[in-house]
Amino acid sequence: MERESLEMDVVFVGAGPANLSGALHLARLVARHDEEVAAGKKQGEPLGEIQIGVIEKGAYVGAHILSGAVMDPKALRELIPDFEGQGAPLESPVTNDSFLYLTKSRAIKSPITPPPLKNHGYYVVSLNKLVAWLGEKCEEAGVNIFPEFPGAEMLYDERDAVVGVRTGDKGIDKEGHRKANFEPGVDLLAKVTVLGEGPRGSLTKQLSQRLNLNEGREPQVYSIGIKELWELPDDRYPAGSVTHTLGYPSDAQTYGGGWIYGLRNHVVNLGYVTGLDYRDPLLDPHAEFQRFKQHPFLAKLLEGGKLLRYGAKTIAAGGYFSMPRLYADGVLLVGDCASFLNAQRIKGIHTAIKSGMLAAETIFDALVAKDFSARQLSGYARRVEESWIMKELRGVRNFHAAFSRGRWLGLANAGLQFVTGGRAWGLFDRARAEPGHEVMRKLTEYGYRGDDITQRYEGLRFDGKLTFDKLTDVYHAAVGHDEDQPAHLHVLDTDICSTRCAEEFGNPCQRFCPAAVYEMVEDGAAGRRKLQINFSNCVHCKTCDIMDPYQIINWVTPEGGGGPDYKGM
Ligand SMILES: Cc1cc2nc3c(=O)[nH]c(=O)nc-3n(C[C@H](O)[C@H](O)[C@H](O)COP(=O)(O)OP(=O)(O)OC[C@H]3O[C@@H](n4cnc5c(N)ncnc54)[C@H](O)[C@@H]3O)c2cc1C
Repeated sequence: MERESLEMDVVFVGAGPANLSGALHLARLVARHDEEVAAGKKQGEPLGEIQIGVIEKGAYVGAHILSGAVMDPKALRELIPDFEGQGAPLESPVTNDSFLYLTKSRAIKSPITPPPLKNHGYYVVSLNKLVAWLGEKCEEAGVNIFPEFPGAEMLYDERDAVVGVRTGDKGIDKEGHRKANFEPGVDLLAKVTVLGEGPRGSLTKQLSQRLNLNEGREPQVYSIGIKELWELPDDRYPAGSVTHTLGYPSDAQTYGGGWIYGLRNHVVNLGYVTGLDYRDPLLDPHAEFQRFKQHPFLAKLLEGGKLLRYGAKTIAAGGYFSMPRLYADGVLLVGDCASFLNAQRIKGIHTAIKSGMLAAETIFDALVAKDFSARQLSGYARRVEESWIMKELRGVRNFHAAFSRGRWLGLANAGLQFVTGGRAWGLFDRARAEPGHEVMRKLTEYGYRGDDITQRYEGLRFDGKLTFDKLTDVYHAAVGHDEDQPAHLHVLDTDICSTRCAEEFGNPCQRFCPAAVYEMVEDGAAGRRKLQINFSNCVHCKTCDIMDPYQIINWVTPEGGGGPDYKGM
């Protein structure tokens, strides 16, 4: 197939906070260098017109961005010191913090807010709006942004150096034939490609496997955050109010917790995080979130309110020990796909922005040196090592792992970390070594009898007022995919679904997917059930790729522009 090639200098894959900050910082470093060289203030050659591109699979910058979010502004202030004055879209400064322990019927307020959850001086933001604004800043600085361009494949030279990225084809029907609007993907050739795909990036997965970037590191562990925006009838939860919860509905063995953040105009955003390293094969994170809302404290808060939007996304919680090698020939990893999130604070925006900036500084040096080898780009790992990112992540390096010993030991460790500086003297090593899909137990091992896969959530009703089924929620994620295209969820062996998986785990994909993508339907002739993939519901959270117990689901990018629309999320 004839493909167009486009030569750029640097291509950033994914328009999240990490890459947009990287692209903006790089454009400014190059411009400043050339100005100083021209003014005789600096020796050396001007770099001239450096082509910087950012590709994004969503329909616009921010379309697929879902976060909490309370933002620690320290990195944004380094990037744009007067971001408030320049009109960054901020919902509100945090005005008060509280921490609640939920039993089934009570909400017990902690007399003190644990230090990692203190947010004084931070901002409640919609990350969707913030990245849209960063995108505009990038364009003003001369960065080319290409929405609806999914990175589908890495491009390598004969030495396995990365030389760019191939974007996805458009206009292929579900049988794999070309439609009238067929357009082949483009080969974007670059001296440096920066992957900022967020958690469980599909290209990051390909690259890491090919170049063994995770060798000697612990497996990444994930959580899933399920979120809704609600409009309340009055000012009962003011903008800037921040609440975190622990306890109900998670049991003490399952990592989980909730949040409620107050936005402007009587809107609240609330959500529930479930660790994707749970043991119970019948657990359903979406149902956990619905139960969270049924708690009397939440039900009262939401009374008379209206659901506005819904979304779900995974969080890479492994931190320091799961960090892959951050560079190879021609390529760097930034943000969540490089494991920079601080799971104890549930914050990754600041580290994503900072990592993008450090990548930009490294690429700038490489452009000056005209050297894009792994040796030159290793300067990025050094910069990260010397930055506040590593200091912060090292101090909480055993946070998530400790919860595999249950909630109370996890909390005890979280407190102790302040004294120990993150050391755990080997106590949690074994826990760290297990990826989430291996932690899930088979139905009988977990103690379930019979094949009723609805037994765990017996009694949970979706009333359409406080609680919603997955399809209603998906409608509120405004998901759209052209249905006449090949499914972007590749299940390598669907026979396993009808046989082993049905017996052993009761097809957990039907539960861990928060968007009702996976459904087991009657297969008349065979007298058993077969997998049906409703791929057009997919919200791109990647949970299936992470949690499938047989690791036979491969999430790849669909046609550009398809997916959720997380406006205001
Ligand atoms: C529910 C939830 C709550 C959170 N709460 C907070 C909080 O309160 N405070 C905080 O600081 N952090 C929070 N975080 C974490 C924070 O959102 C992330 O750390 C941060 O967004 C990471 O930025 P990133 O640029 O690495 O990736 P992302 O923000 O994930 O952006 C990646 C972008 O890349 C695009 N992309 C991916 N693959 C491709 C591809 N192959 N081709 C083209 N485009 C691609 C995606 O569509 C997306 O736009 C939360 C996260 C979640 C999920």
